Amino acid sequence: MTDQAVSTFQQNLRGRLVRPTDADYDEVRALYNGMIDKRPRLIARAVDAADVITAVNFAREQGLLLAIRGGGHNGPGLGSCDDGLVIDLSMMKSVRVDPGAKTVRVEPGCSSGDVDHATHAFGLAVPFGIVSTTGVAGLTLGGGTGYLTRKYGLTIDNLLEADVVLADGSFVTASQSQHPELFWALCGGGGNFGVVTSFLFQAHPVGMVYAGPVFWLAKDANAVMRAYREFLPTAPEELGTFVGLKTVPPMDPFPKDHWGQRACAVISCFNGAAADGEKAIAPLLKAVPPPIFNWMGAMPFPAIQAMFDPFFPKGLQWYWKGDFVKSLPDRAIDTHIAQAAEAPSALCLMHLYPIDGAVRRAPKDATAWNTRDATWSMVIAGIDSDPKRAEGLKQWGRAYWKAVHPFNLEAGYVNFMIDDEADGRVQASYGENYGRLASVKAKYDPANLFRVNQNIRPAA
Ligand SMILES: Cc1cc2nc3c(=O)[nH]c(=O)nc-3n(C[C@H](O)[C@H](O)[C@H](O)COP(=O)(O)OP(=O)(O)OC[C@H]3O[C@@H](n4cnc5c(N)ncnc54)[C@H](O)[C@@H]3O)c2cc1C
Repeated sequence: MTDQAVSTFQQNLRGRLVRPTDADYDEVRALYNGMIDKRPRLIARAVDAADVITAVNFAREQGLLLAIRGGGHNGPGLGSCDDGLVIDLSMMKSVRVDPGAKTVRVEPGCSSGDVDHATHAFGLAVPFGIVSTTGVAGLTLGGGTGYLTRKYGLTIDNLLEADVVLADGSFVTASQSQHPELFWALCGGGGNFGVVTSFLFQAHPVGMVYAGPVFWLAKDANAVMRAYREFLPTAPEELGTFVGLKTVPPMDPFPKDHWGQRACAVISCFNGAAADGEKAIAPLLKAVPPPIFNWMGAMPFPAIQAMFDPFFPKGLQWYWKGDFVKSLPDRAIDTHIAQAAEAPSALCLMHLYPIDGAVRRAPKDATAWNTRDATWSMVIAGIDSDPKRAEGLKQWGRAYWKAVHPFNLEAGYVNFMIDDEADGRVQASYGENYGRLASVKAKYDPANLFRVNQNIRPAA
């Protein structure tokens, strides 16, 4: 790669090209997960689809490793690479709501909070994840679960259309009617098929919600997890509700007497009136001992979406493990509680997000995302601010996962996977859809230009 080639590349971009010698290189390359430290050779800060086309062509022609960065939240840092080109989409943040059609067009640098902010003004929302700083692009392409999922499905179930720059630099719009195989693959197949420069989503009526966390001490975790397991299938789909094993954060406004103690939490969001929300969660609360606090209340939807953001600022150390879970026998609950008790840091967590309702109503082969017959998506996250604790977080996460995995499905959620897991795990996650994905990959990216992701190899 000659200086002349780089200089021509820069001239053809409307956005900036950042190099290791630039003063803000470290700031621009930094990812959300502080455990990952990748040093790209070039970072192209694209401002439009034309920049993306230029950058894809440059990477292909120069034989450069290419990474695509949306929100930069990915656990193993798949939004960046060492010694290659990163197309950084974080400047592309426009959101346009069409209140008549109840749709929203979103550029790929948006966080889910950016979109929630724009749609809330119209009394609408799209199902995204539970932390509002997460990138819409990676979350969507991997599937997307959150509070609205039980009622309205995965994020991909609400994707209507995507503009995509392909590996050969051409530009297409994919939907059910245009490039339908590509559209099917984008719905869960991750960043394997091209760079999405615009998403069109179906939005739904969501305004004020009844939402928040309820915490119990670990001594009640067994009772709460068992009750939650029985409660979930009976709960109205308007109630998005997950169970987690955590620690009471040692800070205000949490009750001082319990700071730093192990806890079990049920965190919920009811899309509707507060009185109906109270009714919806009541059977669970009646079945378990009194909590140490119940902070459910009426709030605007973006408030619950952003409620946990302050606990998870950019730059923390994160170690991720995930599985899909079909059922939660008593022995699995006991194992979870024993493993969570060993957490090396107060931020470490295990969450079980429901996979039911609208997710199950779509046929298994409707999208590339395959595990619609699971009951939960489980995440184990070792989290701490201190890089010296990184090894401890990894050891805890691995040991916890190993202990509970025998109770779980072979498949895992690609958005909760780390890259020290074998290729076989990606295949297992797509199950019977993997062959079809490999064929779509062979058609749209036969040379595997887009390989910094949970990679699907092109079919031979
Ligand atoms: C704090 C936190 C909370 C989370 N909560 C949830 C949750 O509630 N529900 C859930 O489902 N997931 C959740 N996740 C997981 C999240 O979905 C993944 O981390 C996802 O990869 C983030 O997307 P991103 O755009 O921020 O990531 P990036 O690191 O930018 O990219 C992730 C992957 O997507 C590819 N990619 C990104 N943008 C594009 C694009 N425009 N075109 C093509 N490929 C692209 C990248 O190449 C990379 O392989 C959470 C993650 C974090 C850190």
